[in-house]
Amino acid sequence: MSLKERTYTCIVCPNSCEITVKIRDGSVSEVSGASCPRGEDYARQEILAPVRNIATTVLVRGGSIPLCSVRLSRPIPRERIFDAISAIHEVSLDAPVRAGTVLIQDLLGLGVDVLLTRDVPALEGPFQKNE
Ligand code: SF4
Repeated sequence: MSLKERTYTCIVCPNSCEITVKIRDGSVSEVSGASCPRGEDYARQEILAPVRNIATTVLVRGGSIPLCSVRLSRPIPRERIFDAISAIHEVSLDAPVRAGTVLIQDLLGLGVDVLLTRDVPALEGPFQKNE
């Protein structure tokens, strides 16, 4: 019989609870320290299949600012983060761009979309909100 113990700092909310997970024979046997069920779910996920979201930027040509922030529609497996960032950074846009636009559908076949999270108006002329 093997018994391991891992401690995580929960990143689900700003409380940052210290959560301890006991793993007996490869299965989670006990979770302690979480102040709510979301933290317990987070700790189990970290053991079984850790996921992360990405917040990064892409280049915008001809915009009032040179970059637009993006994020994923939902988290992806942690081991795919660097591939995902590389794929996102291969893309660039022409201004104007709008928050909420899907930049990449089904990123790397992972079933998640990359979304723009801010407006970037064109450098020349006023940004038309109703375009
Ligand atoms: S366990 Fe619950 S209360 Fe504690 S940090 Fe995680 S989400 Fe927040």
